[in-house]
Amino acid sequence: MKTKSFTAGLLFSLAIIACLIPSGMADDAAGANESAKNVILLIGDGMGFPQLTLARIDKASENLSEYTSVELFMDGMQHSGYVSTSSANSFVTDSAPASTAMATGHKTNNGVIGQDATAIPKKMDGKNLTTILEMAEKAGLSTGLITTTRITHATPAGFYAHVDNRDNESEIADQLSKSNVEVILGGGLQYFVAKNDSVPTGKESKRNDDRNLLADFASQGYAFVYNGTAFQKVDAKKTEKLLGLFESSHLQYELERSSSKEMDPSLAEMTKKAMGILSKNPKGFFLMVEGGRIDHAGHERNLSNNVADTLAFDEAVKAALDFASQDNDTLVIVTADHECGGLVLQPENLAEYEGGVIDPFFASGTTKTSGPRYDFITEMDEATHTAVDVPVMASGPGSEMVSQGKLDNTQIFEIMKEALGL
Ligand SMILES: [Zn+2]
Repeated sequence: MKTKSFTAGLLFSLAIIACLIPSGMADDAAGANESAKNVILLIGDGMGFPQLTLARIDKASENLSEYTSVELFMDGMQHSGYVSTSSANSFVTDSAPASTAMATGHKTNNGVIGQDATAIPKKMDGKNLTTILEMAEKAGLSTGLITTTRITHATPAGFYAHVDNRDNESEIADQLSKSNVEVILGGGLQYFVAKNDSVPTGKESKRNDDRNLLADFASQGYAFVYNGTAFQKVDAKKTEKLLGLFESSHLQYELERSSSKEMDPSLAEMTKKAMGILSKNPKGFFLMVEGGRIDHAGHERNLSNNVADTLAFDEAVKAALDFASQDNDTLVIVTADHECGGLVLQPENLAEYEGGVIDPFFASGTTKTSGPRYDFITEMDEATHTAVDVPVMASGPGSEMVSQGKLDNTQIFEIMKEALGL
């Protein structure tokens, strides 16, 4: 079903096309514009506009003359717009309802994954919603999920799980083991082995029962890897199903990853491998890629990790765009679930205006003092999500749908569904 806003636009376009070209060509022309064989959705968790600006400043080595010409890969995409992110019960969303909105087209309450807003977080299930990934699986497409967080974390879970509590990661892992998702790459091994067992990377299980999900996945024909060396050896041409879990919890921040010996694969490497495996399906694929720790760096007020993880995410965007440039059948959408940290890019004082210096800081979690009007103190160690709109960029068939004024995050689902003809 189409949303009202773009059904009207579509009908208008069809009317124009019908007037301008011979009737036999009208279907082809309209169809070529809408349908995509594959959809790749890349989500920068906590990646608002200021995070993009700061990543660009960093890419230009903080040099003003370079800054005006330097671009992130996502800056060069064909269409762009902006997205509102509120949840059913809050202006400020967390990743659970934001992911649910993009995956299902429905708003739900903070903390809830894949269920409607009748769910009471941590207390009562709502009605299960159908996700774009489930629709793609049902239609015979291949599917993949990639993240730098635990694969049971809210953003990836929004595409396959249905729970009233995002923290119930044992249950979320169970649901993943029944999802038939062909490529699963990220962290979170601690929820895949039985209670009291240790995971292959040596840490303890965090499961609350005796289930061994790694055995479940093996019996379903998944190849399983848990380190970068084994991952690099996976032959995409010969692999149909891949489970790669590289850490007990989240993957390392990009700065740690790239300097460690036992290197986890990068987000771009995981994206390339997944596309190699999934693109063998002649019916097409749906792939979600999350740069999940941009958000964590925002919470921690850590600018270096925030920037480095944003740039690593942008490399994954490049990998997706390179793949899409090989054919005209792939819709690539890049967006965020919400901004995190209230990142402010400002000079520290008036003199610095002249000097062109900025002193970025994460402003959320600060509060006014009782004294003079502009005095603030940092009240919370951890910065919070904010309610500001986030960017969306898209390339490929159907990508013009992101350039229609403000979108709501639920419309990301409609755009993907329409593009895949589901
Ligand atoms: Zn967060």
